Amino acid sequence: MSVLPKSVENVINEFSKLPGVGPKSASRMTYHYLRSPNKDATKLGQALVEMDEKTKFCSSCFNVTDEDICNICSSPLRDHSTLCIVEEPLDVVAFENSGIYNGLYFVLGGVISPAEGITASELRFKELEERVKSVINESEKGLELIVATNPSLEGEATAAYIQDIFNIFVKEGKIHISRLAMGLPTGADLEYADRLTLKRALEGRRDI
Ligand SMILES: [Zn+2]
Repeated sequence: MSVLPKSVENVINEFSKLPGVGPKSASRMTYHYLRSPNKDATKLGQALVEMDEKTKFCSSCFNVTDEDICNICSSPLRDHSTLCIVEEPLDVVAFENSGIYNGLYFVLGGVISPAEGITASELRFKELEERVKSVINESEKGLELIVATNPSLEGEATAAYIQDIFNIFVKEGKIHISRLAMGLPTGADLEYADRLTLKRALEGRRDI
């Protein structure tokens, strides 16, 4: 029988699900909240519930937002003829914080990873195709897709897959596809890249 009350065990279990958090850290975090004054545990709980209730995915780019269409997609000040394809919403945050990019985004929701059993059908390729087709129909300027998946094996495989599905549009001259330059070291995570590294990677992007 466990010596811990069930309610405490539940919290440890939930913290253990966080990325990079093992059972020991999860226990430490739980005890932090158990001991902390000012009802910090209640505040954390309420903040999580509020986030769950108020946020959704933008129906156009699938970034996290509290509107149907996020303020990036709906902004007339952004360049609607450039679409930067990223893995996760935090990659959008990295680009936005750097202030170096003024186009739109598309959040794939991950990368193709046979090792982790993630296939193309689990990512938003269908939605991406629909999005690209609708931009091609509306825009006379054409469209640039900037593939900004991480410089990992999975990120490269995903970039190749994107190239495959849109090859026909490239041949027809309707879009061109570029990939971030290798200023980012292999295995680096885009979301942690500093402004200068991101700027170099974006400026040095090459057609694929
Ligand atoms: Zn959006």
